[in-house]
Amino acid sequence: SDEGDWDLSDFVTDDAAGESAALPVVAIVGRPNVGKSTLVNRILGRREAVVEDVPGVTRDRVSYKADWIGRQFMVTDTGGWEPDAKGMGLAIAAQAEYAMRTADAIVLVVDATVGATATDEAVARVLRRSKTPVLLAANKVDSERMEAEAASLWSLGLGEPHTISAAHGRGTGDLLDKILEVLPESPRERFAVGGPRRVALVGKPNVGKSSLLNKLAGEERAVVDNVAGTTVDPVDELIELGGKPWQFVDTAGLRRKVRNATGHEYYASLRTRAALDSAEVALLLIDASQTITEQDLRVLSMIVDSGRALVVVFNKWDLVDEDRRYELDNEIDRELARVPWARRVNISAMTGRSVQKLVPALEGALESWDKRISTGQLNSWLKEIIAATPPPVRGGRQPRVMFATQAATRPPTFVLFTTGFLEAGYRRFLERKLRERFGFDGSPVRINVRVRD
Ligand code: GDP
Ligand code: GDP
Repeated sequence: SDEGDWDLSDFVTDDAAGESAALPVVAIVGRPNVGKSTLVNRILGRREAVVEDVPGVTRDRVSYKADWIGRQFMVTDTGGWEPDAKGMGLAIAAQAEYAMRTADAIVLVVDATVGATATDEAVARVLRRSKTPVLLAANKVDSERMEAEAASLWSLGLGEPHTISAAHGRGTGDLLDKILEVLPESPRERFAVGGPRRVALVGKPNVGKSSLLNKLAGEERAVVDNVAGTTVDPVDELIELGGKPWQFVDTAGLRRKVRNATGHEYYASLRTRAALDSAEVALLLIDASQTITEQDLRVLSMIVDSGRALVVVFNKWDLVDEDRRYELDNEIDRELARVPWARRVNISAMTGRSVQKLVPALEGALESWDKRISTGQLNSWLKEIIAATPPPVRGGRQPRVMFATQAATRPPTFVLFTTGFLEAGYRRFLERKLRERFGFDGSPVRINVRVRD
């Protein structure tokens, strides 16, 4: 058959993140220098099996596949900020909130030789309201003699301090047993099917995110408290729009404005990531009255990396005159060229102008994000395209595209099985043609190529 001898089963999954997405996640959090990395290494070093870096949605966070007595899970070491005295509490609290959203169990590591610091207490305060199970690890208890000191850590209100020495392996086996006791078999349900669709409202400061949120929540006067069969995170908000509830994720983070604080940048980017992680579609707000900046593009990059559907919202349209409109068109051509597929809506959160256009844009984007093309349809399309425009010859060889399949939705992910390498230009050509034929308006599309030698 056309399929050759590739093994298709490797590629057909429901989730683009693949196998690691099916494993529960243990997040290790805590201040710098308490021994988080040492603990992660200890967890991984126990066995000889693969230690692999799994490229996650976020870049500065490393996830590893681990196993303990035959059970597999992911371990993430959430670090990556600059230790500095002032912003530290804020940064770590944000880290803890991030873990609460995305992990299935959390280990807070504290340095028992130092005792509970003000920062540890701040994190514990955040973690005490976690619905995700939290274990307290009292590290650097290198000998039995030091056990007693750790008892003071009960004051953190996170239950028993589990004494360990990550460096020497003391107590870490017991800690792992405890972790597995509280860790669910499968990761949290990210996108409950049939529940309200999840929207992340993102953008640099002052573009009008809170104004839009207030407009949407206020105007409809129909903030839903509870929708049967769903549990809504307390940091999220359900807002009824166009007769349906929509879940705006992490609106608490949006309403709690942290400005001029050290670590604010870090907090803002972590908040954006966390929101994108738990959302299905992003509403990227841009201030249409101002020049598009580097900061807008950084948020856009995070969205592109996250693989979420996207609606670009040009806000403050009430301030846009003829001249500005002309400039903006040029800026869009230049700066948003990487997302030609994104849906665009012009609104004014202040006056309410065109706000009702958001719902059809969101719905369209999500429809594309969920869309699946049958293998038959895909391959008859592919055959035509390739017959008309075959891939360019490379190194004297004409690569052949044998077969294509849609391996995943959310976002739509395609795998092309080829003999020989396909140049980036040709991949872009295929993506353009694929979009022309099948749509996918509002959603990113991924095309992976599997080469058989
Ligand atoms: P992180 O910043 O939280 O990831 O901390 P690290 O894992 O980098 O450890 C910080 C320092 O604490 C390093 O010098 C480690 O060698 C040391 N350390 C980590 N675990 C232990 C332990 O169990 N006992 C002792 N005595 N030192 C430890
Ligand atoms: P956030 O930081 O993204 O949440 O932005 P805010 O919602 O706090 O808005 C920042 C500023 O822009 C505030 O002074 C708002 O009143 C103003 N603003 C928000 N939306 C609009 C709009 O559509 N038109 C105008 N003229 N001002 C707006």
